[in-house]
Parts: sequence; C-alpha cells; structure tokens
Amino acid sequence: MNENKAIFLDRDGTLNKDSGYVHKTEDFELLPGVIEGLKLLQDEFIFIIITNQSGIGRGYYTIDDFLVFNSLLVTTLAKEGIEIKTTYFCPHLKEDGCDCRKPNTKYIKQAVSEFNIDIKKSWMMGDHPSDVNLGTNAGCNTVFMLTGHGMEHYHEIEEGKFKPTLIAEDFLTAAKKIKEFI
Ligand SMILES: [Mg+2]
Ligand SMILES: [Zn+2]
Repeated sequence: MNENKAIFLDRDGTLNKDSGYVHKTEDFELLPGVIEGLKLLQDEFIFIIITNQSGIGRGYYTIDDFLVFNSLLVTTLAKEGIEIKTTYFCPHLKEDGCDCRKPNTKYIKQAVSEFNIDIKKSWMMGDHPSDVNLGTNAGCNTVFMLTGHGMEHYHEIEEGKFKPTLIAEDFLTAAKKIKEFI
C-alpha cells in the first residue's frame, strides 16, 4: 500500500530566486512565502526536489557547484524544521534525449517506489510548463507558479501547451490552495 503523499518541488524559480542558471551560494535567496508554505504542508506531505540543471551539461558550472548550492538550500530549510527527503537532478541538455529531464517521469517513478508514494494524492509545483507536464505525465496534481519564469509562460496555458490543476502567484498562496483542494 502506498501511504505517503508527496509534493514534488521544482527548485529554481519555485523555492529560490532564479537569476538564470543560478549556482553561486552568494546568489542564494529563498522566495517569499516558501518557509511558511512548506510549514503549512509538512504535516500532510513529504517534500522531494526535482530539478533540471542543464547548466552542468553546458559547462556553466560543475556537479560539485550544484551540490554545494543545493545543500545550502536544504540546510537553510532544515534550520526551519523542514525536511527535503531528497533532490533529484538532471544534468543533461534537451538534445541529449535522456529520460530524467523534466517532463520525463523517471525521477517521479523512482520516488514513488523509494518513498512509498500515492501519486494520485501528490502534487508537482513549478514555474515552467515542463514542471506541470511532468506532473501531468506522472498522474499527479500540479501547481503552476507565477514566480520565477512563470509569468513569461502564462500565455502557453491558453495555447493548450500545459494544463495545471492550480495556478498561484506565490508559494504561500500555492500551499493554501493545495490544503483547500478536495
Ligand atoms: Mg524553475
Ligand atoms: Zn537527464
């Protein structure tokens, strides 16, 4: 029996400010409402980050740079009593045709078996159409965030390129909407 409900979280532009291929610790900044929102959700859901990091494949930064930045995020949240179960990242370019780059579902499938997750009661949150399409492809609910690159892609909803369950302007609003959703 699958018992855990998960929130699959995009990272850049959803949890932290995305200045474009963000990877330097001095550029790390949590977005407004993230701590409050995660605290609201943590009694009901486990948290897993899934992030596309093609900056690694492009040679803009290394896997180690990525890991140092990511652990700053994870430890910052841990100090608030918020646990990120794991972070899955895709270092590839779109052209590589890998199976781990969002909206491909490899990491959600892996998480479902590793963490005993009920996918139908879980959510994917992110600021890019590929985040929403990942959730849709995997069979969970989705929140499209208007933070990060969200506003730039909003018009693609009307063009039918992706179909989020919910849309939210900031993280705390997203968390409240998830809690209210039946
Ligand atoms: Mg993002
Ligand atoms: Zn990949």
